[in-house]
Amino acid sequence: MKSYSDKPDLSNMSLEEIEDFISHLGKEKYRARQIMKWMYRFGISSFDEMTNLSKVFREEIKELARITSLPIEEIQESIDGTKKVLFRLEDDSLIESVLIREKNHWTQCVSTQAGCAMGCKFCLTGRYGLKRNLLPSEIVGQITALLFNTPEGKDMKSIVMMGMGEPLANYENTLKAIKIITSDVGPGVSKRKITVSTYGITPMIRRLGEEVSVNLAVSLNAPDDEKRTALMPVNKKYPLKELIDACREYPMPRRRMITFEYILIDGINDSEEDAKMLTSLLRGVHCKFNLIPFNEFPESDFKKPSDKKIRAFQNILIKHHYTTMVRPSKGNDILAACGQLSGRARE
Ligand code: SAH
Ligand code: SF4
Repeated sequence: MKSYSDKPDLSNMSLEEIEDFISHLGKEKYRARQIMKWMYRFGISSFDEMTNLSKVFREEIKELARITSLPIEEIQESIDGTKKVLFRLEDDSLIESVLIREKNHWTQCVSTQAGCAMGCKFCLTGRYGLKRNLLPSEIVGQITALLFNTPEGKDMKSIVMMGMGEPLANYENTLKAIKIITSDVGPGVSKRKITVSTYGITPMIRRLGEEVSVNLAVSLNAPDDEKRTALMPVNKKYPLKELIDACREYPMPRRRMITFEYILIDGINDSEEDAKMLTSLLRGVHCKFNLIPFNEFPESDFKKPSDKKIRAFQNILIKHHYTTMVRPSKGNDILAACGQLSGRARE
């Protein structure tokens, strides 16, 4: 365990919180905006370099607060161009972000927890259990580390909270991270370009919709309660009807649709009957589908279906007028694909 300062960390604070902190020091509130610009527009974490603050103020705040950044431990590149970035946290936990190459830009898939407690049967991250929640600085830090230290950072246009962990089980920190990321003095990512992916904690979906306007993705993975509970224990507590009601009422950003993610697992949830049940389950919900052929990993007995079965499933959804993409598995060779993140260094 490293020793580190226990001064308040401005990287864990929203603009309003930095303003409060500074006001309590008897200083002008607008200094908060200046500091945040240095942090998130220029990647500066040393008060000494914040040259538009007076020397006296810099000396004073240095004694009372700190700003942290997240060091990149390792970047691995897949044969398909996907990159997996490993970060070491102050307590030596390891977490991962994945960079996905799109046509003209990159999407960053960020983690919100070190590990995950939710125990979905198909997910490697879930196998290792939860180590701890990430702080806002550790969620935002994954983005700023890449922004200021890698060439891809400049072309990072969208953020998906779909890495390790369940964002809505770390609600407060995820919400604060979103506020920082989308602040006009933050890294400047628009709310429309942020997607929160959840496995379905319905009260938190409702809260998220009330408190911020971001895109929602829901890991659905089964068309009925029996199958879903077998794959995802959460379904016992928040069954499908309740989940779909919360989705129906979720206020998406204008002209956006909820995305339902559906992992296709051979012989488990991939029959034509399953696809038809899905269409009746979601009748009246403004949504689209991402079908993810199961990413195999050594400790799992599940298999991915044949291409023919995947196409048949997709065609039924399309016939019912749902936009349905099959998400090709990316970064498989470096265990960067969905559900394969484990926060482990290369062996
Ligand atoms: N906890 C959140 C976000 C992280 S999980 C959630 O569950 O939505 C990221 C995505 O990976 C989820 O959509 C999940 O369904 C998918 N996933 C997990 N394990 C997978 C696997 N083995 N193959 C394919 N997708 C997987
Ligand atoms: Fe956790 Fe999501 Fe994996 Fe389920 S699918 S174990 S909620 S990371």
